[in-house]
Amino acid sequence: MKRLTILFVLFLATSALGQKPDQHAVVAEFVDLLAIPNLASDAPNIARNAAAIRAMFEKRGVSTRLLTLDGAPPIVIGDVRVPGATRTIAFYAHYDGQPVDPAQWKSAPWTPVMRDAAGNEVDWRNAKSLNPEWRIYARSSGDDKTPIIGMAAALDVLRAAGHKTAVNLRFVFEGEEEAGSPHLAAYLAKYPEVLRPDAWILCDGPVHQSRRMQLVFGARGVVDLELTVYGPVKGLHDGHYGNWVPNPIVRLTHLIDSMRDESGRILIAHFYGDVQRISRAEQEAIAKMPSVETDLKREFGIAATEGEGLPLNEMLMLPALNVRGIQSGHVGAQASNTIQTEAQASLDFRLVPAETPESVKTLVEQHIETQGYTIVRTTPDAATRAAHAKLIKVVWGSGYPPARTPLDLPFSNQIASLMAAAGHDPVRVPTLGGSIPMYLFQQPANTPVLILPIANHDDNQHAANENIRLQNLWDGIDVYVALFEGLR
Ligand SMILES: [Zn+2]
Repeated sequence: MKRLTILFVLFLATSALGQKPDQHAVVAEFVDLLAIPNLASDAPNIARNAAAIRAMFEKRGVSTRLLTLDGAPPIVIGDVRVPGATRTIAFYAHYDGQPVDPAQWKSAPWTPVMRDAAGNEVDWRNAKSLNPEWRIYARSSGDDKTPIIGMAAALDVLRAAGHKTAVNLRFVFEGEEEAGSPHLAAYLAKYPEVLRPDAWILCDGPVHQSRRMQLVFGARGVVDLELTVYGPVKGLHDGHYGNWVPNPIVRLTHLIDSMRDESGRILIAHFYGDVQRISRAEQEAIAKMPSVETDLKREFGIAATEGEGLPLNEMLMLPALNVRGIQSGHVGAQASNTIQTEAQASLDFRLVPAETPESVKTLVEQHIETQGYTIVRTTPDAATRAAHAKLIKVVWGSGYPPARTPLDLPFSNQIASLMAAAGHDPVRVPTLGGSIPMYLFQQPANTPVLILPIANHDDNQHAANENIRLQNLWDGIDVYVALFEGLR
């Protein structure tokens, strides 16, 4: 034990951990980057951002290049190559930002301003030291330029300490994430030698609401569909014909009932057949997550939850069927005594490994057919309607699969331990409930992909007055230093 302690102290003494960058210099460089407008559709300014980021990394001895595709913002690549290294770890962030409505902003979105915790502007350039609770306000200060300056500053810290990395680092900065990454798949296909590293760390999004850092290991997939159930070809008096002419609203709600119960359990046959069991490591991580259920119930004004009382994050490990909307007829003052001609519902499924949109489509359609329906893909004509007792139109959206990296991989443990050693023991989140196309990075070689955000949870990302709290930037730099130096 004693020996271990001595070794650890020695490690700290020789490590760049705990060494700080010149904070004024970091902020000065950062506000210059934030001053460049960065909508993915604004090609000239996107090019200026890409050039600025290249210069920022070239200055630090990183060799950079641009990946390009016609009509797409370039991807900025930076490589730190280490002689003899056998692994390349990629760090991803995006340099584009969400559209802005300047009228909603307290100051212009691309004119960075520092404010204190009370919201008063501060003259940080002439301040002796920077209060860690101050925040920089500008579009993309939180989402997602902070990791870019953070990684650059971490390289400075390493160099000042005379330290090198043991693995190759590859920086990958995308320029159209906020536009839905429409070219990401094409980029991955065109540049496999660059975009197939041994592991990915995606630096995007906010830290946990408790202000602790988090490491996210997965995201659910998604697929949506539109259902239309048909009744008579014209609206009918429900006094004359009710009980005899089929009511499409009743049929549709029965169909939905047959697919999902009130606790969220999906009743479609074999639906859980492809669902991976929750691993022990995942179970332990969920048990250790800060509990949010009581606060959320209060905030949402609900007395009970679905899922038979299981915690939120355990339910997010399962697939979900959500009814997004249902439409037919009228209610209240507009209600009429009519049997409607059709009823529509919009549904989405959240998917977990190893489900895919295709596997789910097959099971759902088998289920609908088992309920006696004939499925059509386009709006049926009167003859088709007259020929089938139960007719439904099913139209699927495209969707994409889930992704999840095991928590007990050596790489996962290594990242979590390095963060903990840097004083930022992360909340380990087995999966996001929402969907992001993490699978693009993971496939086809089942590459480990982790999400490591550094921005404050209250950074107003995607909204007006987006900001980054300085302490989050400093914490992020600490963690990048720990990873750059410690990754093996
Ligand atoms: Zn983002």
